[in-house]
Amino acid sequence: MALADLLLLGRESDLSSERGVSCDGALPAPSEPGLVQRAKVARAALGSSVMVLGHHYQRDEVIEFADITGDSFKLAQAAAENPSAEHIIFCGVHFMAESADILTSAKQKVILPDLAAGCSMADMAAAHQVDAAWNHFVKIGISAQTIPITYMNSSAAIKSFTGLNGGAVCTSSNAQRAMTWAFERGEKIFFLPDQHLGRNTAVQFLGLRLEDCVIWNPWKPQGGLSDKELIDAKVILWRGHCSVHGRFTRQNVDDVRARIPGVQVLVHPECQNPVVMAADVVGSTETIIKTVNSSPPGSKWAIGTELNLVQRLSRTNPDKEIVFLDKTVCYCSTMNRIDLPHLVWAMENLIQGRVVNQISVEATVAHHARVALERMLALP
Ligand code: SF4
Repeated sequence: MALADLLLLGRESDLSSERGVSCDGALPAPSEPGLVQRAKVARAALGSSVMVLGHHYQRDEVIEFADITGDSFKLAQAAAENPSAEHIIFCGVHFMAESADILTSAKQKVILPDLAAGCSMADMAAAHQVDAAWNHFVKIGISAQTIPITYMNSSAAIKSFTGLNGGAVCTSSNAQRAMTWAFERGEKIFFLPDQHLGRNTAVQFLGLRLEDCVIWNPWKPQGGLSDKELIDAKVILWRGHCSVHGRFTRQNVDDVRARIPGVQVLVHPECQNPVVMAADVVGSTETIIKTVNSSPPGSKWAIGTELNLVQRLSRTNPDKEIVFLDKTVCYCSTMNRIDLPHLVWAMENLIQGRVVNQISVEATVAHHARVALERMLALP
């Protein structure tokens, strides 16, 4: 999309993007004094036929109304394990709602309260770009020994590509198992779309060298790589990253260690490799929560993940010193699109019998994406 075509967030729609940007409907004003009460009344009226799921990076005002909180995988599983929930209001981002739709029955409807809640990382791998890369692998004769592994944080179309070509989905908790599984079936991994998770897992847990990994840049001819580089590589990393986790630096780690003696650094594997290598603990969102909650009083933690979660951990662990790894604010802007007005709007429409912002994945795409998701669920 040319710069001149860029749309304002919340206006019109962008069909080439993982997220839509239009936000139709009469939303309550964020400043309305009775908004929390409206949310309580609406939630009670909807009862158990509706399930509200809240990702750990959501705002407190939204988390307060979540029946289940978790990371993307836990929430998709929760949706699948609750067939009696006719409607699932997914307070997270677009790719998560897609996964929930793929894993639930045809009778269940998944709602994303704001269609502008996308994921910049998922948007970095468009289906036509991934197809072009794979066609090049076919041309130079490496596709047969290459297994695609895609992170949960990808569009349904990329999960579908992965399922169709013998690969599996992974999360930040099982990336090591997924990559080990892939190396048992092929000689090379095509890792999408987060280069950092792919690289960190390959180097930290699989014993590969940084030089064994190359980066496919979709904006350059042939990914910016020679045929020899592709043939020699063990892991071909897609050039994608999380705009939130990718901003932490090694300097942040050194600074916080100098500022707070005895602090332990806890980061998400979507962070850059020098940050991960300098940290004390690396783990998924669920691991970060468990690590902090189970640490003894007086523990000091500098955490490199989304700020809503770090602030919540700090509030729920008042006996520990918890700081954000970076000095500047770092919310996930698209996660924050879901706020109380959008949640109230979605719930009140449902009470009136209107399903707004339904996320529905096309049947063929859903079928192949489900294959890739089920391979992940069957990982040893
Ligand atoms: S935190 Fe990063 S990976 Fe997660 S939704 Fe936001 S941009 Fe995407």
